[in-house]
Amino acid sequence: MSRTPLIAGNWKMNKDHLEAIALVQKLGWALADLKWEPEQVEVAVIPPFTDLRSVQTLVAGDKLQLVYGAQDLSAHDAGAYTGEVSGAFLARLECSYVLVGHSERREYHGEDDALLAAKLAAAYRHGLTPVLCVGEALEARQAGEHETVTLAQLEGAMKDVPAAQVAQTVIAYEPVWAIGTGEVASPEDAGAMATTIRRWLAGRYDARTADAVRVLYGGSVKSGTIAEIMAQADVDGGLVGGASLDPQEFAKLVVNAKT
Ligand code: PEP
Repeated sequence: MSRTPLIAGNWKMNKDHLEAIALVQKLGWALADLKWEPEQVEVAVIPPFTDLRSVQTLVAGDKLQLVYGAQDLSAHDAGAYTGEVSGAFLARLECSYVLVGHSERREYHGEDDALLAAKLAAAYRHGLTPVLCVGEALEARQAGEHETVTLAQLEGAMKDVPAAQVAQTVIAYEPVWAIGTGEVASPEDAGAMATTIRRWLAGRYDARTADAVRVLYGGSVKSGTIAEIMAQADVDGGLVGGASLDPQEFAKLVVNAKT
């Protein structure tokens, strides 16, 4: 099965709603200059919540072929949950994607498996494609426990996800030690973990379902490193933090991701 590569730019807590307009405009121009073809590599931007309306207006108004999403969502749909943002609101803003379980949410906000399972369910309820982030910390990698830890995270968050919804899921393997550190997993290590994740999906669901799911790699990816990572059979794209804030660099990364 052929899976369209996805490059998603996680802006984290950078760029206000005015800066977002400038960044998306520049990204659109840079991609056009490099003759980007959306059928070959799908591009998503994942800005802060407060930018989403600006991005929606710009994407629709300028007919950009970019898609966008949010960095988190509430497990609840509405009500007395101060500070939370409902998947229903994201769907109204025509978001395609939503990150679930980014390591910064796990670490700084104590998000655990039960909460992530509920957030996944909320994403499916509202027709959003969740990008479920998993990956081990440095100590686990050094102890050779990267597979066990990553698969336990998948098991924990996906325990209630029926087969029908799995294909509507993106999994991002992001080793914590590689996020924002400049330290990139070797292409072989990234590829091996993507294969491990796909095998787990095949065992938990079936081969056809596993084959349909896009598995991304994330962790200090740059335009100069993406091609080797994309050359790994089971890697279908990248979740990109720092490099997504520079439109020229991000556009180069996108075209270099073409397989
Ligand atoms: C991320 O935030 O998911 C990420 C991979 O960040 P960076 O590319 O900066 O390591």
